[in-house]
Amino acid sequence: QPVIVAIDGPSGTGKSSTSKAVAAQLGLSYLDTGAQYRAITWWMVTNGIDIEDPTAIAAVAGKAEILSGTDPAHPTITVDGVDVAGPIRTQEVTSRVSAVSAVPEVRARITELQRSLAADAEHGIVVEGRDIGTTVLPDADLKIFLTASAEARAARRSGELKGADVASTREALIQRDAADSSRKTSPLAKADDAVEVDTTELTLAQVIECVVTLVEE
Ligand code: C5P
Repeated sequence: QPVIVAIDGPSGTGKSSTSKAVAAQLGLSYLDTGAQYRAITWWMVTNGIDIEDPTAIAAVAGKAEILSGTDPAHPTITVDGVDVAGPIRTQEVTSRVSAVSAVPEVRARITELQRSLAADAEHGIVVEGRDIGTTVLPDADLKIFLTASAEARAARRSGELKGADVASTREALIQRDAADSSRKTSPLAKADDAVEVDTTELTLAQVIECVVTLVEE
């Protein structure tokens, strides 16, 4: 029986590192749903779509072909055959992704991709995002909601961005989480049956061990 694990939470809580490691340890597939929303945002920006105009975004929501490789040792993401792993991490995409992912047509399309990848995962899958436990895979075997203080999250992100200013990283993170939490369609939220893990005082290894133990229980 394939096992489905949903890991949600705001930015900088360690979702990606944790999900990848748990999937690798347990022999499961891995899906970074944030990368999919970033990829469609990259496509919108690249094609000159007005990000301020939800109607314009909705009209072309189905146009980009987004493919996710789900091997946790080597996750990949392409749009219309182009490897966008680098470009989707730029400041430009990061600052626009909340607006694009708030458009219901975009969510419907990406959610469909996510469900089909989960259904196809032979041994099961770890799916990380914002609405996986609540909307995408409400029947997941295990749901985790990762949290951490704003300070810890900003410090981790600035580390990843190699020396970016912690104060401005913190502001940008708080703004993005507020936008993600307040949108009407499947906002960032903890499912009622999710296990909440506060990672503020934990090392990555401790978080991984905690989740692996919960899966094996
Ligand atoms: O996880 P990451 O920070 O890469 O996600 C980028 C953005 O994608 C989030 O800020 C959010 O706007 C969007 N997202 C979403 N639903 C998900 C995953 C990500 O709306 N399940």
